[in-house]
Amino acid sequence: MKSKRLSESYCLGIESTADDFSVGISTFDGRIMANVISAYVPEEGGIHPREAARHHAEVASKVLEEAFMKSRIKPRDLSIIAFSQGPGLGPCLRTGATIARALSSYLNIPLVGVNHCIAHIEIGKLETNTKDPVTLYVSGGNTIVAAFDSGRYRVFGETLDIALGNCLDVFAREAGLRQKPGMPFGAVVEKLASKGTKLISLPYIVKGMDTSYSGLLTAAVNLLKKNVYRLEDLCYSLQETAFSMITEVTERALAHTEKKEVLLTGGVAANKRLQSMIKTVAEEHDARFCVVPSQFAIDNGAMIAWTGVLAYKHGIVTPIERSFVKLRWRLEEVEVPWIR
Ligand code: AMP
Ligand code: MG
Repeated sequence: MKSKRLSESYCLGIESTADDFSVGISTFDGRIMANVISAYVPEEGGIHPREAARHHAEVASKVLEEAFMKSRIKPRDLSIIAFSQGPGLGPCLRTGATIARALSSYLNIPLVGVNHCIAHIEIGKLETNTKDPVTLYVSGGNTIVAAFDSGRYRVFGETLDIALGNCLDVFAREAGLRQKPGMPFGAVVEKLASKGTKLISLPYIVKGMDTSYSGLLTAAVNLLKKNVYRLEDLCYSLQETAFSMITEVTERALAHTEKKEVLLTGGVAANKRLQSMIKTVAEEHDARFCVVPSQFAIDNGAMIAWTGVLAYKHGIVTPIERSFVKLRWRLEEVEVPWIR
């Protein structure tokens, strides 16, 4: 293994924290060879953790096979296996971890447990060539403003209750909207919001550096049920209020840290209105604004593979007996020796 060139050493990463099961393969010098994602779309309602885990188990071998096919490498070419160890939904995490442990034991190669939130930041940096950004990570399960400081990533602000993506998803479901592959609820809300013209007053809740979306969601759903406003105007107002809240927090993190880059990632990063708000504050602080390309912004295996490489190259491995999943693993708990 030591004699191999970095470009010929491979890490396979497994992502399974929530609704997506994904396998990515990265070289040790950061070339992404494969990134295959299979999303679980519930027939109705939100994500049921056991149903999502069942989906992951069902698609795992097909997704693995496709990743090997795309990367044109064989299992025996792998040097390490990385997996998302947390945070996330227990049954989903355990399904991915079990597959990772099995591969690592069978191939007799090291296992590396990766923090899902840090992986989002690291793949974002790799794909946009940013070095030391303030990151806004907004997804179905997370809403975090983070930046590196004194040996670790630090959370500068976060949601106190539900995630921004979840707020949009629940509102869309309450409104009877339908999502389909390639058109998630957030994108459906975005499309309707683009036709909105009236800004309806909704609760704007920022406490210190943190946001709260559950009161905003309840207020928006209550107005929806009253049937007095156009759905387009409600979507528009929900977006404007929810996005302004997190933009305010991002701006303050930027002013405080004086970093010169802003990285927007997570599934909600696809939203053009959010992109334009964050871009505006970045420009006001002379910072470069970057959005992570969508296949690396949503939950994906490539980010786990690449972060596994960074950790492994700095001596981090996860013995099987310490590979239990960590449902509430916060990113500031993780040492990141690969950043100096
Ligand atoms: P993730 O949790 O990173 O897999 O991302 C999924 C979340 O991103 C869900 O809450 C989606 O509704 C949301 N999302 C996807 N596309 C958009 C969009 N265009 N605008 C807002 N949210 C979106
Ligand atoms: Mg997802």
